[in-house]
Amino acid sequence: MSLFNRNKPKDTASADNAPLAVMALNSIHDGVIITDKNGIIKFINPAAVSMTECGMAANAIGLDYGLLLKLRSKEGRDLEEAENPLIQSMRTSQPLEKYACCLVASQSAKVIPIAISVIIAEGTGDRIITFRNITKELAEEGEQAEFISTASHEMRTPVATIDGYLSLALNPQTAAIDERARGYLTAAQAASKHLGKLFQDLLDVTKLDDGRIRPKMVPVEMVGTVKQIADAHMMRAREAKIDFRFGTSDPNNFGDSHRLEQVVYGFVDIDFLREIIDNLIDNAIKYTPAGGSIYVNVRGDGDRVLINVTDTGIGISSEDIGHIFQKFYRADNSDTREIGGTGLGLYLVKQRVEAMGGRVWAESGFGEGSTFFVSLPRLSNEEYEKRMIVVRNQQALLAQSPPPQASPPAPPVPQQASSPQSPPILQTPTIPQQQINNQIGGQQ
Ligand code: ADP
Repeated sequence: MSLFNRNKPKDTASADNAPLAVMALNSIHDGVIITDKNGIIKFINPAAVSMTECGMAANAIGLDYGLLLKLRSKEGRDLEEAENPLIQSMRTSQPLEKYACCLVASQSAKVIPIAISVIIAEGTGDRIITFRNITKELAEEGEQAEFISTASHEMRTPVATIDGYLSLALNPQTAAIDERARGYLTAAQAASKHLGKLFQDLLDVTKLDDGRIRPKMVPVEMVGTVKQIADAHMMRAREAKIDFRFGTSDPNNFGDSHRLEQVVYGFVDIDFLREIIDNLIDNAIKYTPAGGSIYVNVRGDGDRVLINVTDTGIGISSEDIGHIFQKFYRADNSDTREIGGTGLGLYLVKQRVEAMGGRVWAESGFGEGSTFFVSLPRLSNEEYEKRMIVVRNQQALLAQSPPPQASPPAPPVPQQASSPQSPPILQTPTIPQQQINNQIGGQQ
């Protein structure tokens, strides 16, 4: 039979092609395991035998897939059933696409980084599981991230200097310029700010992606903290002629009274939280025309804290909404084209929310405004009190310890213009998580 027989119908599953298909599966480097709908292995190719270290195909046939495919998170942490997408996909018959994680080989317990996918066969419900060793890709990604990180870091400094000189040129107390020059320099300053933001975002993306920034989780009263962050945006919203409100009542009811009556405790990294709220409100202001409204709300929802940032702006189409949390994704339509942005903000929001054990999602329709929800771990009153005792003890210890040795003065560095919406927030001192857990008996 010729591979190039043009008269044959293009049916790769036909009986004629079956030996060819098996030959292909036996020669590829990707692992392939086929199970029935209950997860019992019917087929395993040599690459999968080798990666799982099950010895030979015959050892695997008839076994439950879970005995061979032991997964850990991509950071190497054991995965609970509820957070294991392979188990979820096998149970719910939902396909899984290229989930990056680690496979623990049966014999040597070697941990291999893999990307795993599951396809559910139509009719039979068989599961076709494919997985690929991604060690090389990760190394290449690491090098790429290192390059972006170094380049962004180096480029931020001259951009901050340019911004500083432009501010001096635009300040009537330090320079005299005519109106036309003011127009040019104002445009140049807007571009340099955009560039500075892009470099900062790129730097944050690489640091978050490779785990260089980890959240320092502390107990926090959420309503007051989020209000403090949100209030700093009030002026800018007013300048943009947008009605800006903060409250704890129904997010869909703009006319409702907005009283701060609820106390909700959370367990978060305050810097992460500020970046997240700043970003969502920045977007809400950016994508809401004058005359619109923005509404920020915090409430307890079972064991979660639910924050929403709602606007009556341009909204997001159903085609775009599934992509807006991806790196560099920007909805491209006549409403957004004129509005500047890097397409990195929501990606950073997602990275930060997920690093704190939370979830972020958006509900919107084109022309119908948008609501961004952030769900984060909540603490009960008792848990909050316990954790605060630890924090206070820690503060007392710090107060007693001798002051650190004076370090030589730092050389002057060009100052990046600080963002007007980010005043310092009263911070709970950072206590290492392990220490908090130890002192309250390992409770999370
Ligand atoms: P950008 O810098 O482009 O704003 P983001 O990652 O913050 O990047 O957002 C990605 C895209 O999501 C934006 O380009 C915009 O199309 C859409 N978007 C984000 N927030 C809103 C919002 N509140 N209203 C309408 N569209 C939004």
